[in-house]
Amino acid sequence: MPRVLMLYTGGTIGMQPSPQGYIPCAGLAERLAAHLALADPYRLPAFDVLEMQPLIDSAELMPETWNRLVAVLETHWQAYDAFVVLHGTDTMAYSAAALSFVLGALNKPVIFTGSQIPLGEPRSDALNSVVSALQLAAHPATPCEVSLAFHDRLLRGNRARKMRTQGLDAFDSPNFPWLAELGIGISFPQPSALLSGKPNFAPIEVDDEAVAVLPLHPGMSLRRAKALLADKTLKGLVLYSYGVGNPLSFEGELLDALKAASERGVALLNVTQCAQGEVVQGAYATGAALNQAGVIAGSDITLEAAIAKLTVLIGQGLLGATLRKALSAPMRGECSR
Ligand code: ASP
Repeated sequence: MPRVLMLYTGGTIGMQPSPQGYIPCAGLAERLAAHLALADPYRLPAFDVLEMQPLIDSAELMPETWNRLVAVLETHWQAYDAFVVLHGTDTMAYSAAALSFVLGALNKPVIFTGSQIPLGEPRSDALNSVVSALQLAAHPATPCEVSLAFHDRLLRGNRARKMRTQGLDAFDSPNFPWLAELGIGISFPQPSALLSGKPNFAPIEVDDEAVAVLPLHPGMSLRRAKALLADKTLKGLVLYSYGVGNPLSFEGELLDALKAASERGVALLNVTQCAQGEVVQGAYATGAALNQAGVIAGSDITLEAAIAKLTVLIGQGLLGATLRKALSAPMRGECSR
């Protein structure tokens, strides 16, 4: 039977109530063991639990946590056959995407999971998440990639989004089929097409000034958008646009500011605000102008994966044309083209 290492980073799954609301709590391994005492030990792989320090509400997560996770994975990579990361749901899609980009090709599965209701509370989904992730970790058909298991599904990590604040089926991947469906049995509709290989464990250089998002909306301030684009610390920007990737032009002024930023070497990635579908820059004249301004069409990448991809690539030291090239194509199956 495979051996699994479970990394507990915090999140609702292990939280307990306090007068201020739920807070992350240590000692999850013991609590899990008590809850699993009745489970048939022969149906689950052997696993160890490692608690990260500090345990966090994932809303507090910064990219430094990704480096810490990668370092722990590197330390234990040879000793285990698969890895489960227990993570808060708020930023789990960002972390799963970021780790997929940092680690690159994998020869073992890394499965993120969490829960909407803490372990031990009535109707908690925590045990289901843990047991599902463990069974998937031990399953020979589970792909060697960073994935996210939640409720009844296994999703590609860099395609996943938190879609529901309340629903127990909180995650989905609207632009990509599920990797596996967990019903009475576990079915894998298609084998993963990602190449497997030895992971890269090099930490990224964290620069919290480098990446920003510019969400477009009726009534937005051109002055503020221009100030952001002119900011000298900016290295990568997600242009969060309408429909198939359309911007408002402010009679060319926003386009000019985008062009100037691109010429300064800022990587501009166009991501649609639509929950499903892809950017087609050029379907409308407004969008076509973005091609001239040096904006890269983000295909059907999610906002979370776009932010993670920019943060990781910039943190790996990519610049200028090399950065733009890496952004223009899928790295780890995060977008369709
Ligand atoms: N705020 C929590 C977190 O992301 C929410 C959760 O885990 O569901 O850590």
